Amino acid sequence: MTTWTDHSPERPLALTAPSGIDRAAHHRLDEAWLAAAWSHPTTRVFVVSGGQVLIDETADGRTEIVMTPSFEAPPTESHRYFLGTDEEGVSYFALQKDALPGRMDQSARPAGLREAGLLLSPRDAGLMVHAVALENWQRLHRFCSRCGERTAIAAAGHIRRCAACGAEHYPRTDPAVIMLVTDTKDRALLGRQVHWPEGRFSTLAGFVEPGESIEDSVRREVFEEAGVVVGEVEYVASQPWPFPSSLMLGFRAQATSSEINVDGEEIHEARWFSREELEAGFASGEVLPPYGISIAARLVELWYGKPLPQRQGAF
Ligand SMILES: [Zn+2]
Repeated sequence: MTTWTDHSPERPLALTAPSGIDRAAHHRLDEAWLAAAWSHPTTRVFVVSGGQVLIDETADGRTEIVMTPSFEAPPTESHRYFLGTDEEGVSYFALQKDALPGRMDQSARPAGLREAGLLLSPRDAGLMVHAVALENWQRLHRFCSRCGERTAIAAAGHIRRCAACGAEHYPRTDPAVIMLVTDTKDRALLGRQVHWPEGRFSTLAGFVEPGESIEDSVRREVFEEAGVVVGEVEYVASQPWPFPSSLMLGFRAQATSSEINVDGEEIHEARWFSREELEAGFASGEVLPPYGISIAARLVELWYGKPLPQRQGAF
């Protein structure tokens, strides 16, 4: 029996591999500990700005985030995120700034998660996805949702407090379901969103609604977008997707009907593909595979049975 649960250690899903970082949340409210960690000589700091960090290649060809000791970091008190510590006790901080610092050498360059997530080590990818998620949340939650007053950053970037009404606001994560639906002939249902170019097909996806189970969300989204009825739903894997604050919950789903009726609003076109049809589509260039970093690509790949052709460039 095929198991669809995806824990392949040899080829981890981007942004989900164990980073080796202990988030050490118990230190976030300990100002004395944070101050000592910040000024410790081994502490590493990087700047996050607009979802980007500076990345660079090492002499041995690896790609890493450009980090500095705190004494070389640009001055900022208010937008300092404590991200955790590694096994050696090194502390990591991200500074949120309006712009990335000037490039320190010729090869360093700014990169967003969609590009860097595929290049960085699990440690750096984990640090970056944490920092980007916090930055997005901070940027969009400057005012209290209870009373409308301005809120202030606290807990090393993980809380926003409202002095006017005392409310504490925590970073939000929006669950979204993404599913590879197959029919009784083991064909995969792939759709093209309205704003996607001709030929780009991927799994269906959508947000979980209030008061809804994730299994029901899978069934509702597939029916809404493609008119296909889904029976069994099986969890595969998850992926943080902070664009701006999603957590993609990946599923395999079994269709109990095959007629397709696209909604025309989110999905422009949907088709059942056999493996042979998909392979032929890739070969002729008629079908473009999902981007390698996304859990969509992994879900398609698990069904397809071999790696998808790589797409050139970032999103
Ligand atoms: Zn308030």
